[in-house]
Amino acid sequence: MTITFADLTTMRVGGPVGRLEVARSTPHAIEVLRDADRTGEPLLVMGGGSNLVVGDVGWDGTVVRMASTELAIDGELVTAAAGVEWDHLVRTVLAEGLAGVEALSGIPGSVGGTPVQNVGAYGTLTSDVLESLSVYDRTTGEVERWTPERCGFGSHRQSVFKHSDRWVVLDVTYRLRRGGQSAPVTFPAVAERLSIEVGGTADPADVRAAVLEQRRARKMVLDPADHDTWSVGSFFLNPVLAEVPERARACPSQPDAEGTKLHAAWLIQHAGFGQGYGTEWGNGTVALSTRHTLALTNRGGATTADVLKFAAHIRDGVQAMFDVALTPECHLVNCSF
Ligand SMILES: Cc1cc2nc3c(=O)[nH]c(=O)nc-3n(C[C@H](O)[C@H](O)[C@H](O)COP(=O)(O)OP(=O)(O)OC[C@H]3O[C@@H](n4cnc5c(N)ncnc54)[C@H](O)[C@@H]3O)c2cc1C
Repeated sequence: MTITFADLTTMRVGGPVGRLEVARSTPHAIEVLRDADRTGEPLLVMGGGSNLVVGDVGWDGTVVRMASTELAIDGELVTAAAGVEWDHLVRTVLAEGLAGVEALSGIPGSVGGTPVQNVGAYGTLTSDVLESLSVYDRTTGEVERWTPERCGFGSHRQSVFKHSDRWVVLDVTYRLRRGGQSAPVTFPAVAERLSIEVGGTADPADVRAAVLEQRRARKMVLDPADHDTWSVGSFFLNPVLAEVPERARACPSQPDAEGTKLHAAWLIQHAGFGQGYGTEWGNGTVALSTRHTLALTNRGGATTADVLKFAAHIRDGVQAMFDVALTPECHLVNCSF
């Protein structure tokens, strides 16, 4: 049976996989990566497929799916292999009395995916807790241990991994904290739910529960039965502009190291694309989530071409209305729009 990216990704689109290698441990991952590079065939590394959209042509080469499962706790340091499911790590460390990643509860994908786009939510970024990571360098064949400074994290979901396939993340070490209290809760709705001041702390398990409640309300927790979650999460980045165009001045914004960060969901909504928009627009296979305008969703039977045609329609509408260019946050492979 042919395996396709529709089988391997949360958006559930994309064509056939040439050859699939599932790397079940870190040594196995290194072996598979070395072998694939030795043959010179195209190589695509993936984790949970929750931030990936591959073209309908698929991938004519090897796909290495990181499924390594090693996880070790040493005091306040937690080291997990790239293939460990992210939310499994969050649940495990909370059960062990460690705090720091509770605000990142419910995010799909793998540990190895977290430094790639400096995964963040509800006031916490991966870079806040990253101690070090090990990478396999595909040009030298060597394994190196990196500190966060080498990762090139920016405020804008950036890292050196995002636009280069030279390094494969093998494992990540996070520095967490014992002591029974969460990291400061900076997201107002979560603080309100916990009846604490913004910036206050709480029991980490309560923070996880409050975050999951928020995420479920926005349909941002995977549920195979719910098409609103057949997505890559936020499809577009929040744009950061040196100068905000006159027409976009009403958009909620915040200062950013590189300019002003605008709220992409607001821009989409106010360009005329409300929650659930799209069902009447194309052939019914794609639409915005009914709870979150940043999530482009597969309503069943979508192709990558359907998704990207819809993404272009949204992008062009925002450009025409606000003179702001939206760019994708997810990784597009063998496709563009
Ligand atoms: C419902 C939903 C909600 C989401 N909510 C959030 C959120 O709140 N915050 C957020 O930041 N993101 C969110 N996302 C996006 C996504 O979950 C994260 O980006 C996640 O970290 C992707 O990990 P992954 O293992 O699925 O990566 P994949 O989708 O498999 O891969 C993404 C990219 O990373 C590369 N990659 C993967 N593993 C490695 C590795 N080991 N070494 C090198 N490169 C690698 C791949 O080549 C690809 O380019 C959400 C997605 C969904 C579907």
